[in-house]
Amino acid sequence: MSEGVSRPLLMVPGPVEISPEVSAAHSGSPIGHLSDDLVAAHGRALEQMRQIWQAPADAQPFIVAGSGTLAMEMAAANLVEPGAKALVVNTGYFSERMMEILRRYGARVSSVDAEPGYAVPLSAIEIALHRNKPDSVFVTHVDTSTGVRMPAQAVGELAHRYGALTVVDGVCATGAEPLSMDSGSVDVYVSSSQKALGLPPGLALLVVNDKALDARDKLSSLPPYYLDYLAWRPVMQAYEAREKMYFATPATNLVRATPIAFNEMLCDVFGETQGIEARWRRHAHVAKALNQAWRALRLQHVCERSEDRGVTLSALRYSSKIGPELVSAICRQGVIVAGGLHPKIKNTYFRVGHMGWSITQVDFLVRTVRAIANGLRECGEAVSPDEAVAELEAGLKN
Ligand code: PMP
Repeated sequence: MSEGVSRPLLMVPGPVEISPEVSAAHSGSPIGHLSDDLVAAHGRALEQMRQIWQAPADAQPFIVAGSGTLAMEMAAANLVEPGAKALVVNTGYFSERMMEILRRYGARVSSVDAEPGYAVPLSAIEIALHRNKPDSVFVTHVDTSTGVRMPAQAVGELAHRYGALTVVDGVCATGAEPLSMDSGSVDVYVSSSQKALGLPPGLALLVVNDKALDARDKLSSLPPYYLDYLAWRPVMQAYEAREKMYFATPATNLVRATPIAFNEMLCDVFGETQGIEARWRRHAHVAKALNQAWRALRLQHVCERSEDRGVTLSALRYSSKIGPELVSAICRQGVIVAGGLHPKIKNTYFRVGHMGWSITQVDFLVRTVRAIANGLRECGEAVSPDEAVAELEAGLKN
């Protein structure tokens, strides 16, 4: 990406950098929403979603113009009736958002909460399941406000034992953190285009299994028009059969770029593995290498327990001497990172995204570590950029 040298590098936890090929497909002239090219791209993207989500044959993938919040809302609208009981595993900002969405659909919402930077123990979830007997459980796979990861499949298995369906918010995880819908433990896995899926913002993507599709059939009142699985399902089925059908106009340029981004993910070969598993492993590997660099820079994670930490971002505490001015200092070094997001600890940390195509670009990772190191120096910390970069490079080689 030649322009990437002069313009700042986007290393926030979404949206993220995209490949030149994806960018070219996205920025070309618009194509007709019923053209053969669009139908083929849409159909291919849905097939690839089945691979990325590791979805069973009777599950339904959906691609709808909108953002991750729309995907969350679709999951709620097609599952929750007024008065239904929903349990939210609350690990931060986006779990709170899920609770608000659920309340607006009339659910009786309970939550099992963790302090910022901590995962919710499965034992606490089990107690809440036992006590509240919810109809559905909602969990954020990786919470973008703190970097905390929940073991989504284990939560789903637990929820199923208590007869509840499970919805996982994978907006900051899908394509980077292992999750297989084939296991049957997760009923709906929602995501959006602008993070580990390596696309620009603008698409809500979700896969819904047979049990969650049945739940939509059983609703006693209709979901909002644009959000209804039953409105979209025939269109998605038509696209997979390479047939034309219209419900609402797709984000045509984004859809054209989608199979290209998904192909990049699915053709990844990393070490002994390939396909989406290789992509998952590569994310874990890069996160580990970056941790070595953060250690050299004396940066501490908001989420202290490494086993509870996602691989898609680093939420890093400011030292006692530094505050949010560090984010601007890093930006002056040509790399955009994000400030804190969790309202309780917002001004105590910053966030670096490392997901999607950008983690395959060693140069981006090196520039990011160097910019953070230089930013820290500008703010008065005695750290060595060369040492941090050497740690990163050593970690990447292992
Ligand atoms: N869930 C998570 C975990 C997220 O990180 C985000 C976006 N940062 C959302 C939901 C909402 O997605 P969007 O901003 O695309 O609506």
